[in-house]
Amino acid sequence: MTPFGSDAGAGSRDTYGGYRARLVDQLRAQGIRDLAVLQAFSVTPRHLFVPEAVRHRAYEDAALPIGNGQTISQPFTQARYLETLGLKGDEKVLEVGTGSGYQTALLAALAGPVFTIERVPALAKSAQAALRSAGLNVSMLVGDGTLGWSAYAPYDAILVAAGGPEIPPPLVEQLSSRGRMIIPLGARGAQKLTVVRRTAGGVQTTPIGDARFVPLVGEHGFDG
Ligand code: SAH
Repeated sequence: MTPFGSDAGAGSRDTYGGYRARLVDQLRAQGIRDLAVLQAFSVTPRHLFVPEAVRHRAYEDAALPIGNGQTISQPFTQARYLETLGLKGDEKVLEVGTGSGYQTALLAALAGPVFTIERVPALAKSAQAALRSAGLNVSMLVGDGTLGWSAYAPYDAILVAAGGPEIPPPLVEQLSSRGRMIIPLGARGAQKLTVVRRTAGGVQTTPIGDARFVPLVGEHGFDG
């Protein structure tokens, strides 16, 4: 029996459906109210995005190692993130830090076209494979996401999944005038989750809570 791969998604052969429903219950119990966000978690097969060694823990509300010193974020943190973005379904979204691809898949369930950038080629490769096996077609770039992806700008929403010392200016430039960005800002290992909006004169930033993300490494991030 192969409990993953061909049984992706919420299809009838999906053996993980019960675990996923329990995860959604936990998110709801912790205060996640956005029905679209809860629905995205209930249809997205997290087990396809974690390495085999930790697959039995795929539906725990916990961060898990995904290799190359990186982690797949805790579902609750991701749910908060997504709730804050308030996606309605048709937005063009840029994600910086694909990691496992799980959050990319959640974004694909919640928004319009999703563009994602990952700097570690091995992670990009396995994320792309997982996204495909989940039946999702996402545009992916391997490179420094602090430079954004100008070819498809502007974006209605930008989600940065790694913590940086400053707001990368190219990401502000690539945000649509009514768009919003969410980015953990601060030192390595301790950041403030921050919402960024464009204003006539520059940007407006609103801190919304503490966060601990892996470092954003790049030209407008930390040194590698
Ligand atoms: N949300 C992801 C986890 C992201 S971990 C998930 O669901 O799995 C953060 C990721 O950001 C890591 O994979 C790391 O390699 C990547 N990263 C760090 N700096 C980056 C940069 N400048 N550009 C693109 N990706 C970056």
